[in-house]
Amino acid sequence: MASLIWYFYFRVANMASNAVLSEAPRALSAKYVGSFAYLTVKDRLPTILTKVIDTIHRNRNQFFEEYGEEGVQAEKRAISFLSKLRNELQTDKPIVALADNAPDADSWNQYLQKQQALMDQGGPASWFRSPWLYVECYLYRRMWEALLLNPPISGFDIFKEAKTQAYFESQQAVMAICTHLHDLVEGIGKLVEPQLCEEFLKLLQVSLWGNRCDLSISAGKENSQKSSPIDSLEDLKPFILVDDSNMVWSVLMKSKVLGGESQGRVDFILDNAGFELVTDLVLADFLVSSGLAREIHFHGKSMPWFVSDTTREDFEWTIKQMSGANHGWTCWSGTRWQQYLSAGVWSYHDHPFWTLPHEFCHMATEAPDLHALLQGAKLIFFKGDLNYRKLTGDRAWDYSVTFRRALRGFDPAPLCSLRTLKADVQVGLQPGQGEELTAREADWMTSGKYAVVQFLCPHKEQ
Ligand SMILES: [Mg+2]
Repeated sequence: MASLIWYFYFRVANMASNAVLSEAPRALSAKYVGSFAYLTVKDRLPTILTKVIDTIHRNRNQFFEEYGEEGVQAEKRAISFLSKLRNELQTDKPIVALADNAPDADSWNQYLQKQQALMDQGGPASWFRSPWLYVECYLYRRMWEALLLNPPISGFDIFKEAKTQAYFESQQAVMAICTHLHDLVEGIGKLVEPQLCEEFLKLLQVSLWGNRCDLSISAGKENSQKSSPIDSLEDLKPFILVDDSNMVWSVLMKSKVLGGESQGRVDFILDNAGFELVTDLVLADFLVSSGLAREIHFHGKSMPWFVSDTTREDFEWTIKQMSGANHGWTCWSGTRWQQYLSAGVWSYHDHPFWTLPHEFCHMATEAPDLHALLQGAKLIFFKGDLNYRKLTGDRAWDYSVTFRRALRGFDPAPLCSLRTLKADVQVGLQPGQGEELTAREADWMTSGKYAVVQFLCPHKEQ
């Protein structure tokens, strides 16, 4: 009887999913041999796993000092778990349910059942046959499981070292951008609208190119910003394939003019810690100081994620580091941001939905509380590649399909994607533009050389 109920459950689930999916092209997957997804699952993800194993091993002494022999035993078990995981990945074994009891485990296991029901020729959901977005997110969740299941080292952030190093390696650029912010804020009251707009566009582009500093795409290899980001903006402009910056500016100005003074909330769905996070904080400071926003919400990850993604600890650590820096304007910036946080002008949020594998068009049903929260923003910035993949469903869209169509109804508030291209999904281009780029540079979608500033206004506000 139970199996009959399951049969009908999967049939109905399958039909419902197919109805939604029929509006969208296929998901990217490692099953397409030679695709970027295939190369990622085959090469990049095992390399990241190997580095994680190495990191845990190198911290053995620290675990011993903190927890004694129990810490060393936990380290051994975590390494053995991760080695087995790497083998499962490389030999395309079935995806298995999570065995930890963390609050998100049920959602993951239900998602696995859905994926199972969607497998086209039967057979289990597996690393090389299931959607790339799902298996890549699942890998990071399993890495976290390796620690969760092995107390007392459960709280260890396997990517902390890499993130810290990336931050320190971009010190020159951090100092340059903080000096720029200080000079700007000092004279901000005297700026007339066109000047304010010009300054906004500069900092928007700094935040955009800050997204190049991504450790998951370089498989953990050093990838930091060395020079002053402001100086290179003009040279980088030709590499912005879609630039809706002026529409973003209009949204910000519209509510400022209506209210007469600063009002409204701007949300940042963060990507990477390190230099990129600093560029986001600088942009956020500008929005508050100029009166374009009254409040900022930052949304980050609740577990170590895609190597360099920002967690609450990274967020707090970065601001603390900066407020204690020797460089005057870096220290000035960090201290100022601590005050924003204490005063509630800035706040950090880490909803579990950001570390689930869902496309954002399912946010309203999967995480209605988060969707409702985002609806309260006057503008939302989605930083980086993974957010772009989730916005567009990580699907094989034609390049010229509109951004709106690819988002399939997801429009909680005016939103802007700031993304350098590191995965082979791109929409909203001019007819022929993608084909022309492909003919010229085979890896244009994955090299991080190109970027987009793509804007969407909700239907009701059009
Ligand atoms: Mg990232």
